[in-house]
Amino acid sequence: MKIQFERVGFGEQATEMFHIGKLFFEDVEAVYEPADDARLHIKVTVTADEAMRTITAEVLLTDRDTGAVHKSRHERAIGARDEGHKRAVKRSVGYGLLQVLREYTGIEQAWGTLTGVRPTKLMHNLMMKHGMEHCKQVLRDEYLVTEPKVELLSGIAERQLKVIPDLFRLDREVSIYIGIPFCPTKCAYCTFPAYDIRGNNGSVEAFLEGLHYEIREMGRWMREADVTITTIYWGGGTPTSITADQMDALFNTMQEAFPAMEGVRELTVEAGRPDTITEDKINVMKKWKVDRISINPQSFTQATLDTIGRHHTVTETLDKFKLSREMGMNNINMDLIIGLPNEGMTELQRTLDQTAELLPESLTVHTLSFKRASRMTKNKDDYEVAERDEITDMIRTTAEWTERHGYVPYYMYRQKNILGNQENVGYSLVGYESLYNILMMEERQTIIGLGCGAVSKVLFPKVEHEDGYEQRIERFPNPKEPAVYNKAYKEYIVKKISLLDEAYGRVTTGQS
Ligand code: SF4
Repeated sequence: MKIQFERVGFGEQATEMFHIGKLFFEDVEAVYEPADDARLHIKVTVTADEAMRTITAEVLLTDRDTGAVHKSRHERAIGARDEGHKRAVKRSVGYGLLQVLREYTGIEQAWGTLTGVRPTKLMHNLMMKHGMEHCKQVLRDEYLVTEPKVELLSGIAERQLKVIPDLFRLDREVSIYIGIPFCPTKCAYCTFPAYDIRGNNGSVEAFLEGLHYEIREMGRWMREADVTITTIYWGGGTPTSITADQMDALFNTMQEAFPAMEGVRELTVEAGRPDTITEDKINVMKKWKVDRISINPQSFTQATLDTIGRHHTVTETLDKFKLSREMGMNNINMDLIIGLPNEGMTELQRTLDQTAELLPESLTVHTLSFKRASRMTKNKDDYEVAERDEITDMIRTTAEWTERHGYVPYYMYRQKNILGNQENVGYSLVGYESLYNILMMEERQTIIGLGCGAVSKVLFPKVEHEDGYEQRIERFPNPKEPAVYNKAYKEYIVKKISLLDEAYGRVTTGQS
């Protein structure tokens, strides 16, 4: 759909207009100059009153083919923290646009004008200042969020505070992410740093040398800075792609280098691909007291696994789940994806029926997202995926299924290009919530990433003000490719330590 936007008054808001437009149409081409071939013309007029207390956005949509016209008018007070009124302009333009596009297309947007990745973060920020009922009302009135999503957000925020009561007081602790970038083969939808491990042992060894070094250096920094660890998460890739001995050696280095390991609240290993799980590796994980593992079926339909190139069988998932259980793993997560190619309600039902027989302690339900770099997106026409309404039904069915089986939602996030503009939700049986997932998603604590493709997120001290607080968050990504990492890990750790020193108010040497 080609849309010509005409902007009158102050406030450019081109990005906001584009993002709201994208919620309604698969392919949006937005232009800001006159264009006769644009089917929709949307005029956005933004004005302020003389005292600069309120912003008004008027939106007029005209379909040039049918002559249909839709209008909206939205007035919003300018808040104390609305620097240069930008936030009020952005919100009123978003609100007005959503209203006219909703009328024009007949499509309800469950998340209203919220286009960000972390709506729960907004919920927590509101909850710091107001009671729950008021927060819910703000979501409905100011962001046009629908009732099921308001309930989802409020339920998750409350659950998170039960699970981590000190969620907002974890400044002197960090969580650690260890990125191991290898997999047995590459799945079609994957954009993670995941390199085929076959015949690659030379680069695996070189990579592990760097990772051991990073673990030791970071351990030294944490001891010097008097910082302890809340949670540790091994992800990737598939960490269990490396051998049992290689895993054992890494755990050993962690134990020697990291401070106060006995106080770590959770240690997770994303075993992910069932074809990498062996008795030896489970024994190693038990030896080092791994609390939680993931075994990810994604779907229990074999034809789907073949289409997405996962190169393992449904039977293998069931066998490895059983093996892990028998060997005493009592906190297992499973990832499922809704909307995989050629999957509809029948395939989803099969996956849920099979999951009911296993009853893992937690389930992370993703909705397929067409990420730019994946093989699936590059060959989009080769993959048939369900329509928006069916996706919505599948998500609803899954949510109802989880409720019937005793799971509660405890974290969520949204992505760009996610089918049907939906969300990814983590469910768990009560008491089996992943603390790392909550901490990583809510950005209330520094996460230090070590290894390939690991992204550190460093939180600076809070600056309090009358509306709450602001906090600088710096991302620091490690190289994604093992070859680059192997050459540069020493430089990266020096830079990372300098950044951490700055955030923790220490004089930096980067490295001793
Ligand atoms: S198992 Fe996970 S990380 Fe590995 S290729 Fe598949 S989606 Fe990517």
